[in-house]
Amino acid sequence: MTRRSCGALRASDAGAAVELCGWVHRRRDHGGLIFVDLRDRDGLTQVVFDPQHAAFRDAEHLRSEDVLRVCGLVRERPQGTENAKLATGEVEVAVEELEILNRSLVPPFQVNVDENPDENLRLEYRYLDLRRQRMQRNLTVRHRIIKAMRDFFDERDFIEIETPLLIKGTPEGARDYLVPSRLYPGSFYALPQSPQLLKQICMIAGFGRYMQIARCLRDEDLRADRQPEFTQLDVEMSFCTQDEVLETMESCMRNVWKRVLDVELPAFPRMRFSDVVERYGTDKPDLRFELELSIVDDIFAQTEFVVFASAIAAGGAIVALRYPGGGALSRREFDALVEEAKLLGAKGMVWVALGAEGVKSSAQRFIEERHAQALAQRLRAERGDAILLFADAREAALAVAGKMRSEIGRRCGLRREDAFAFCWITDFPYLEIDAETGKPVPAHHPFTEPAEGEWELIERDPLRMRAQHYDMVLNGYELGSGSIRIHKPEQQRRIFEMLGMTAQQIDEQFGFFVRALDYGAPPHGGMALGIDRIAMLACGEDNLREVIAFPKTQTGRDLMMDAPSPASEKQLRELHLRPQPRV
Ligand code: ASP
Repeated sequence: MTRRSCGALRASDAGAAVELCGWVHRRRDHGGLIFVDLRDRDGLTQVVFDPQHAAFRDAEHLRSEDVLRVCGLVRERPQGTENAKLATGEVEVAVEELEILNRSLVPPFQVNVDENPDENLRLEYRYLDLRRQRMQRNLTVRHRIIKAMRDFFDERDFIEIETPLLIKGTPEGARDYLVPSRLYPGSFYALPQSPQLLKQICMIAGFGRYMQIARCLRDEDLRADRQPEFTQLDVEMSFCTQDEVLETMESCMRNVWKRVLDVELPAFPRMRFSDVVERYGTDKPDLRFELELSIVDDIFAQTEFVVFASAIAAGGAIVALRYPGGGALSRREFDALVEEAKLLGAKGMVWVALGAEGVKSSAQRFIEERHAQALAQRLRAERGDAILLFADAREAALAVAGKMRSEIGRRCGLRREDAFAFCWITDFPYLEIDAETGKPVPAHHPFTEPAEGEWELIERDPLRMRAQHYDMVLNGYELGSGSIRIHKPEQQRRIFEMLGMTAQQIDEQFGFFVRALDYGAPPHGGMALGIDRIAMLACGEDNLREVIAFPKTQTGRDLMMDAPSPASEKQLRELHLRPQPRV
């Protein structure tokens, strides 16, 4: 008698005596026999109970999700009853012995169907949800991705170094989670937003090549594609150029895709930040389809159309997007599209339809034949297409046109849904303006080295300074960022000063780090990639929670454990925290 998994048996096993353990996936009573599909992580096997065996009586009472051990003989299924959809579909096990290892209550949703039940219910009963084949597959793919990453870096002589969870904050632009210290009243540890400073210190410590599958925590307002805790592939290398980091990370991803999905990825195209924003309206372009934007100010240089003329006069831009086949839209459909553009943030949108009966436009009086012709030529539009125009401040016009590009890509089925379009974005600006405070903040983080030859801009025009910072993007998602780091202590201080920190603040927050740079820090650089997003895209899912075993809801709760939950007064006292009055 050998123990086999529920996905293992084939016709060649016929005649073998086997033991299977698993869950009741489905039970059917048929022509005096009872059939059970027994399930484990590996698959399903049909086991058959015959009234002649004592086990039959117990089998009559089996319910979904009961846990069984069965022993019996493998036999080929009678002709015509094979199931080609199942790997084990040629055989069944004739049960001679049944042990009911445990009973299950009636599950709050069906584990044995493919469609997703209500998400809150799934998260509350996550152990049942995770039993579903799709979730078992997703977590297995995730495991393989991480394994392939570890193997890849091991082969290239990187070592994995664990960094602590209780640290002093590392700024990545989000809010820290704080942990109050029992031993030091009024003091707090921060949970890492990333191991950034520790991996840099590993370089200063001479390890040369570091990687870690690292847990990171950021207390930010949750969006659909964020989780408060997440996992990243964190990498750092000494004595490297930007090209070497890019080559390493790109090879890693190519390797992962080959090993896990058996997909050969082409070389990742590289684009400069300023170019990519001009072409796609975003620094996270979805390159599964081509459609590019175009700035068409020159075409409307002499226009009397006040919307366009005033945008140009104010230093803004007119951005055009082709809508393949859009020329056939009715006026009402165009009106709806204008409303959609407004929801995406547009002040307005002008459409030009290159229809069968000539040019029509929402700004008919101002769109002359020569405009339509020049637009069509610039955008390579044909009769039957439409052209959408956005006039605003340059960045705003590009951004909204970029969002509309995604919408058009979706509507027109332009995206190759099963494609993986990776790319690199380089040459980011060093600073960006924080939407909330209006102050300049690093686009990446303050440990990033400015672009070669641009240090001197820090005195004259810091907003023009670019960074040795790069992002990897896949299908419109940013997978991660990295940079070449500052390794000279005086330069690191200079960046902190530029960001408005006093000598005392630098010392309090980053004294330990600048001191470490003082002791012979090597030139170094690295990157981090979000494993949750990578797994999500590799699995063809559109929600991070589908590839995380125990995720938080969109409002930051763990519904299964019911966390966060109040602490006892005793715990709070020990942590020197005053209980909040209950409301
Ligand atoms: N620490 C950065 C992040 O988490 C990545 C890096 O610069 O290596 O985004």
